[in-house]
Amino acid sequence: MLHRQYPTEIIKKAWDLGLVNATVPQKYGGTGVTLFEGCLVAEELAYACTGITTAIVANELAQAPVILAGNEEQKTEYLGRVTKEPLMCAYCVTEPGTGSDVANITTRAEKKGDKYVINGQKMWITNGGVANWYFVLARTNPDPKCPASKALTGFIVDADTKGVTKGRKEWNMGQRASNTTGVTFEDVEVPIQNVLGAEGAGFKIAMGAFDKTRPPVASSACGLSQRALDEATKYAFERKTFGRPIAEHQAVQFLLAEMAIGIEVSRMAWMKAAWQTDNGERNTYFASIAKALAGDVANKCAADAVQIFGGNGFNSEYPVEKLMRDAKIFQIYEGTAQIQRVIIAREHFNMFKQFNA
Ligand SMILES: Cc1cc2nc3c(=O)[nH]c(=O)nc-3n(C[C@H](O)[C@H](O)[C@H](O)COP(=O)(O)OP(=O)(O)OC[C@H]3O[C@@H](n4cnc5c(N)ncnc54)[C@H](O)[C@@H]3O)c2cc1C
Repeated sequence: MLHRQYPTEIIKKAWDLGLVNATVPQKYGGTGVTLFEGCLVAEELAYACTGITTAIVANELAQAPVILAGNEEQKTEYLGRVTKEPLMCAYCVTEPGTGSDVANITTRAEKKGDKYVINGQKMWITNGGVANWYFVLARTNPDPKCPASKALTGFIVDADTKGVTKGRKEWNMGQRASNTTGVTFEDVEVPIQNVLGAEGAGFKIAMGAFDKTRPPVASSACGLSQRALDEATKYAFERKTFGRPIAEHQAVQFLLAEMAIGIEVSRMAWMKAAWQTDNGERNTYFASIAKALAGDVANKCAADAVQIFGGNGFNSEYPVEKLMRDAKIFQIYEGTAQIQRVIIAREHFNMFKQFNA
């Protein structure tokens, strides 16, 4: 595969094996595995390449709002499409002017008869350039005093609708197999049948999707961390300094031990978050804990693996330089490391008040 090329053939193979759209219910053509099992798939794929995993898992991010709030017709059509054919879909929320502050989006959707007309620009959209359909969050109530919980609406938009323009593929630090683009909507007409849930329900739907998708993002980060530990351990047995393998130096052993601690704990965190969803429990708190922890651990593991490789670690002929570049995004997308802490603190305060009332 060429450098930076979208991994179409690999995704087709993964799709044939049922590894794409893993959590789509069987009724709509998916394998219907649990979130826990979907996370295991993501961790294993990420051990090999997190760029390809992001392209695959992003489908699940776009599908989550449909699974959460779609009606039978929407689920049959849009989940059915991606399970019948190896097609991609994308989640369009972030804009050039706002990412963390989702309530501040400016993309507008105006109701005109039996249609909505969408105008606005989305940015940093995974699968943006290759998607067959989009989940799009837009403002339907222009009143600045209207709270986000009522002002925003979620739509399903066919990517070939007139007025949709896919931007160029962005040149990112890592995960370069993944396709990240802007998407522009210019007088894009969407039938009212493509509103998810109801007008004004979009913010809750868009945020609710993360409870399902943060665990697989955390497990993907774990896959990267495990790869970093395995590569560093192998190298530590091979490389000799001062007459012995560097694995015999206690300082190197401690780096490896810290990596192992982080991996085991972040793996247990995504397992708990996924298990909660599979057992009908609200998992917002643990989904954010897992995502925050696994993202930080992946960055530490990748950086420490580079350290153990010494000068070779800094070179692209060796495997760990890519891991370090790929790891960074785990602290940024699907809610930054800081936003996860905002959510964890909010959930913590709510629980504290509940138990201390
Ligand atoms: C490769 C890639 C793929 C992506 N894929 C998608 C996608 O498929 N769909 C999609 O909709 N978006 C996607 N994104 C966007 C991503 O979710 C956002 O970049 C992210 O949410 C951060 O938003 P921002 O870039 O606007 O940063 P900002 O919100 O401007 O944040 C800048 C900095 O300020 C910090 N900050 C902001 N608010 C607070 C606060 N209240 N407290 C403390 N710190 C704060 C942030 O943590 C960050 O460090 C992707 C981004 C990238 C780079």
